[in-house]
Amino acid sequence: MSPRETSLSNSSETGVLFESDADTPDGALSADISQVKKVEERKFKLIWRNIILMSVLHVSGLYGGYLFFVHAKWPTRFFTIMLYLMGTLAATAGSHRLWSHRSYKAKWPLRALLVFFNLTSFQLSCFHWARDHRVHHKFCDTDADPHNSSRGFFFSHIGWLLIEKYPLVVAKGKSLDLSDLYADRILMFEDKYYFKLTPIFAFILPVIIPMYMWNESFITAFCAPFALRLIIVLHAQWSINSAAHMFGWRPYDKNINPTQNVGVSIICLGEGWHNYHHAFPWDYRAAEWGGSSLNLAAAFIELCAKIGWAYDLKTVSPEMIAKRVKRTEYFSLGE
Ligand SMILES: [Zn+2]
Ligand SMILES: [Zn+2]
Repeated sequence: MSPRETSLSNSSETGVLFESDADTPDGALSADISQVKKVEERKFKLIWRNIILMSVLHVSGLYGGYLFFVHAKWPTRFFTIMLYLMGTLAATAGSHRLWSHRSYKAKWPLRALLVFFNLTSFQLSCFHWARDHRVHHKFCDTDADPHNSSRGFFFSHIGWLLIEKYPLVVAKGKSLDLSDLYADRILMFEDKYYFKLTPIFAFILPVIIPMYMWNESFITAFCAPFALRLIIVLHAQWSINSAAHMFGWRPYDKNINPTQNVGVSIICLGEGWHNYHHAFPWDYRAAEWGGSSLNLAAAFIELCAKIGWAYDLKTVSPEMIAKRVKRTEYFSLGE
């Protein structure tokens, strides 16, 4: 086996996770990253259950788009938008910035709130999400990355959810230290009862509440607050893995796929500053700048810090950012 083939099948680490990881001799820049970013030939095993569920959800959601603008009552429209914000904050402020990257600490009321938000949106348990996401950062754009963007837009956007996980992804997931996640009792409670609780909060209540509280029709309640809202939440999150790994600019590290993407930042409440985020994943802002209209998740965390629910918010010094930018330029010139 040639050295290149070995590096492909082993999927060497290509990214950082926490502040401590960035303190490596090469400054957390992998010299062979262009090699490991290539993909192996692979036969996909389709999961038909997921393909059928996604198809039904998308057809209902598209019809829900029409109903939302033409037939839905005003409370239904508000309710749909509120559920979208809850589901998106669960992923951005919760599964991502809190549990995947430990970029800040949260007291139990905030953790409970984020877990509740997460149960409304079929994005898998926060534990499951955080474990997959740590693998994504550590082995970014290699075959150990669950949504390897080197395989193209469709695969990294939704395709990876319609096929069986690549064994290398599972193996690398098991190799990571997840002890901090196991120690969080609220997180473990959600993971244990996820498949019992999420149908109630993500499906039954979003349909029943509009019907009984303000006499919305069943079809509108099903297609708008449930299906339309869900496909928007899911596509917004998926676009971080696809669009924000392909389209945009790379001011912090030119050697990695992740980009700065304004559109993704708008729909994901601030998660599109992805070139910065992959360079400095432990920053609670997931961007060089904090809470703003283009980073509502950071504004939410700052608000929680004001009322004492969030603390130890981590950031990166301007000097360290400048150093990283310079080092990247040096590596690029040296090639
Ligand atoms: Zn990414
Ligand atoms: Zn991340």
